[in-house]
Amino acid sequence: MTSILHRLTEQTTAIDLQFQGRPNVIAAYLFYDGEQAALIETGPASTVDTLLEGVQAAGVPLEALRQLIVTHIHLDHSGGAGVLTRQLPWVRVYVHPVGAPHLVDPSKLLASASRIYGDKMESLWGKILPVPQANLIVVNDQDEIKIPGSTVRAFDTPGHARHHHAYLDTNSGLLFTGDVGGVRMPGVSYVRPPTPPPELDIEAWVASISKLRALNATGLCPTHFGLFRGNLHWHWNDLENRLLDWGQLVRGLVKDNASDDEILEQVKTNATAEFKKLDVDPSAYDVAVSYESLVAGYIRYWKKQLERDK
Ligand SMILES: [Zn+2]
Repeated sequence: MTSILHRLTEQTTAIDLQFQGRPNVIAAYLFYDGEQAALIETGPASTVDTLLEGVQAAGVPLEALRQLIVTHIHLDHSGGAGVLTRQLPWVRVYVHPVGAPHLVDPSKLLASASRIYGDKMESLWGKILPVPQANLIVVNDQDEIKIPGSTVRAFDTPGHARHHHAYLDTNSGLLFTGDVGGVRMPGVSYVRPPTPPPELDIEAWVASISKLRALNATGLCPTHFGLFRGNLHWHWNDLENRLLDWGQLVRGLVKDNASDDEILEQVKTNATAEFKKLDVDPSAYDVAVSYESLVAGYIRYWKKQLERDK
C-alpha cells in the first residue's frame, strides 16, 4: 500500500491511483495538517476506492477530508467527484466556472466522452455521478483557497481546455499543473502535450505556458505524473516546442488533405523516433493520453482554423 504514496513535502503527498492497474499514470495530491485534509484532483470514478485507501494509508481519517479541488472537468481529473460527494457528503468541490455546470449535470460531458471511448466508458472511468450544486464552489482566476497548511492560488489556464485552472501552493511554491503543464513520467526528460478534442487552442496554451513559467514555481506537479524540480524552464520549453512542432506537422498534413489515419501514423512515427533516442518505454504516456486522442484534437483544431482563414 505504501507504494502508492509519494511524500512530496511535510504536508503534501501524491497518491498514485494505479489507473488501469498501472503506476505513474494518474495522481491525486493530498494536503493534510493533522486536522483537515484537501485533495487536488479526484481522479476518475473507477479509482475512488484506491484514492480513499491512499488517503487512509497516509494517516488521514476520511472525516478529515473537506476539500476537493479539480484542475478541470475531464474524467481522469474530476470523474470521482460525484461518487465522493455521495460517500462524504460534507466535502466541497472547487471548480472553474466553465466546468461547474458539467459537474452538476454531466450528461453532455458523458455524451462527448462516449463518442471517443464507446463501450469502454464504464471500465475506464467508472460510473460518473452528478455533484450536488450545494457541494460546489466556483473558483475564479486569481482566487485564493485556504487549504490545510497552506493557501493555493488559481490561475485560469486555457489551451488544453477552457475549464482549466492551475494551482500554486503559496507556501511550498509547488505548481499543480493539471494537463496544461503536459504529461511527463518520473525520471524522463520528455513532455507530451495532451491535445484531445474538442477545446484545444494552441495560441491560448502558449499564453498559459508563459503565465505559469513566470510564476517561478519551486516544482511542477502534473496530474500525469508526480513532482519535477530542477530546470523547469527546460520542462516548459520541451512542452511548448512539441506542442508547436506537432501542430505544424498536423497543419501541413491537414492542408494537403491527408487522411486522419495518415496523420496519426506520421505523428506516431515522429514520436517513436524521439523515444528511441531517449531509450525509454513510452507506454505510460500512451495510457495518460493516446496518440488517437491527441491527433484527433489537432485535426479538429486545424480544420476549424483553416476553414476560418479561407
Ligand atoms: Zn484533460
